[in-house]
Amino acid sequence: MRPLLIIFACFGLVTCSTTPSLVEQIRALGELRVVTRNSPISHYVGLDGPMGPEYDLARGLADRLGVGLHIFVPESFDTTLDELVARRAHIAAAGLTVTPARHARVDFGPAYSMVQPQLVQRQGDRRVSSVESLAALEEARIEVLAGSSHAEQLARLAEEHPTLHWHAIQGVDVDELLSRVTNGEADFTVVDSSEFMVARHLYPELRAVLDLGDPEPVAWALTRRRGDASLREVVSAHFATLDAEAELAAIFQRYLEPVQDFDYVGTRAFVRHFDTRLPRYRDYFIEAAAETGFDWRLLAAIGYQESHWNPQAVSPTGVRGIMMLTQRTASSLEVEDRVDPFQSIMGGARYLARQHARIPERMPEPDRTWLALAAYNIGWGHLEDARILTEISGGNPDSWVEVREHLPLLTQRQWYSRVRRGFARGWQPVHYVDNIQRYYQVLQWMTAGDQEEEPADLLASQ
Ligand code: GLU
Repeated sequence: MRPLLIIFACFGLVTCSTTPSLVEQIRALGELRVVTRNSPISHYVGLDGPMGPEYDLARGLADRLGVGLHIFVPESFDTTLDELVARRAHIAAAGLTVTPARHARVDFGPAYSMVQPQLVQRQGDRRVSSVESLAALEEARIEVLAGSSHAEQLARLAEEHPTLHWHAIQGVDVDELLSRVTNGEADFTVVDSSEFMVARHLYPELRAVLDLGDPEPVAWALTRRRGDASLREVVSAHFATLDAEAELAAIFQRYLEPVQDFDYVGTRAFVRHFDTRLPRYRDYFIEAAAETGFDWRLLAAIGYQESHWNPQAVSPTGVRGIMMLTQRTASSLEVEDRVDPFQSIMGGARYLARQHARIPERMPEPDRTWLALAAYNIGWGHLEDARILTEISGGNPDSWVEVREHLPLLTQRQWYSRVRRGFARGWQPVHYVDNIQRYYQVLQWMTAGDQEEEPADLLASQ
């Protein structure tokens, strides 16, 4: 009678199986088993125990399923997926890039991030700016994590460049790879942009010189079982909810904000836009830079802050286009069509040059440029007022750092009543310039491999 009963029971179910689904197994076990790796953007043991974005994400799923969480790090990164295949873990949450070779072995949840693989070397060493020149360096030692997406990628590149040699290192983590390059034990490594974004604060003597390939999706790897999508469905629902509640972004931000001055959500979008949008406008920025004397990457950073390089951008106050010009500014710059990317970029660059020219020449760079940018944002008059307040309080009105401190005082009556133009949202240009400085810094870093010489120290050569 028993088989009959099972068949009967199956009629009411959408997926009918005599063995419990993966999710039912996890519930029965009372434990979600997650394999991870040690990294500031995956998992690490902090003062209060395990922490990190992957840890929080996994903890959330375990809570959702009403089970405990068992999270562990394998001896060596290259055995991470073996843990899934051998059914010692249900999920690998380890900043894993989705690659074809991995897809053949395991399932993946939804991509929750995009990362750009980057070649990293020491500052001061002869800069490598192409795969060809890397492959030509026969003596150079390139090290990557054994079993990583980067090892897979180098193997693909070696098909085209047979002289390319590298070492896949077992039993290390990304941090150790970077420290080996710093110490000269290796000359190059390949790491994800997200890793390097954090690590560059710890290893200032390193730099990312070359993007290898395109940005790649990162996702959880999941145990695969034929005909059983239960785990993938639960994981997808988990990420969808986190995304809808803005919790996904908050998790990464929580960890990344203290270690980097660039938010994670911003970074993800930035890397994506750098790849998809900037190439369309890059030549315009270069042309506008040639005319005005600014570094093109500074102009591009302004464009990113203004509109995320979206020519259709429009604000509730009616400013428009890549450089978000007002109608009045646009007219004064002879910009006929603010939505036209070239006109907008040229107009923005000329407007910045105009602000820059109004700031006394005696002022040193880069302060003069930062002050010009603040004027670009809040208007020349309010900037002048903030410089006066800086002077009144005994500060140096020619120093951006000091004027930056005083700009927010323009919101306080006891201060703004002492200057000509009165109240202004003084914190606005502070955020504005801060953001542009970060975008500019990241752009310099991301385009570092594009040229042979060091990026110009001066922001403007006027
Ligand atoms: N995302 C890489 C991978 O999936 C590991 C991280 C790194 O090397 O930066 O293999």
